[in-house]
Amino acid sequence: MRIDIMTLFPEFVDTVLSESIIGRARKSGALDVRTYNIRDYSEDKNRRVDDTPYGGGKGMLMAAPPIWNCYSAIVEDPSSLPREKIRTIYMSPRGKTLTQGIARSLSEYGQLIILCGHYEGVDQRVIDEIIDEEISIGDFVLTGGEIPACILADCVGRLCPGVLSDPECFEVESFSGGLLEFPQYTRPPEFHGMKVPEVLISGHHKNIDDWRRQKAEELTRMRRPDLLPPEEK
Ligand code: SAM
Repeated sequence: MRIDIMTLFPEFVDTVLSESIIGRARKSGALDVRTYNIRDYSEDKNRRVDDTPYGGGKGMLMAAPPIWNCYSAIVEDPSSLPREKIRTIYMSPRGKTLTQGIARSLSEYGQLIILCGHYEGVDQRVIDEIIDEEISIGDFVLTGGEIPACILADCVGRLCPGVLSDPECFEVESFSGGLLEFPQYTRPPEFHGMKVPEVLISGHHKNIDDWRRQKAEELTRMRRPDLLPPEEK
């Protein structure tokens, strides 16, 4: 998958997405992440990208022309996919809250273009013109869309073929089966007087599966009953 990120802070995004699993996937070619400095697309002689809002109000807004120019350069580049295979997203507290289901559906596109806002946000006209979907990472307000964009790129990126060594990892984790994940243990068998549950060292696969299912249900019922189907609540 290809992910293009339009931002005022490309180095920040690039650094975050150069570490660990996503960084390795970029090196191996499983993920192609490109960042763009929106300021490079400003036509202003001082490379300005913001202005005061019409109608008054505090703060500055990101102006439409530099974002439009940046977006056009991405989609018109011959290396970009045809428009119907691209999904363009604005990271915004007004958007739909990111879930594993949304990440899964986005992982089916060949290319994502992500717009990071800053200041008080972005001129509505460029949102109306280029954005397919607004996504929020939660009901709180951050200073910019860079951290949300990294979260989205990480969450979608790890679902793409070749990024995780074993795709089973995300088939049995929290949210994928509608439940939170069961507790997990590794060596040593005893830590600060606490032993690993007997069943996990029994080698009895059916009992292990049953135990994990039961623990996942207990945990979900306790912490996130909203995830359970109505008949199990
Ligand atoms: N004035 C905007 C409002 O009230 O909705 C908030 C603007 S915020 C200070 C600046 C930028 O940070 C936004 O344009 C957006 O890109 C990003 N941002 C802030 N909180 C976010 C969240 N919860 N999810 C996604 N993006 C967020």
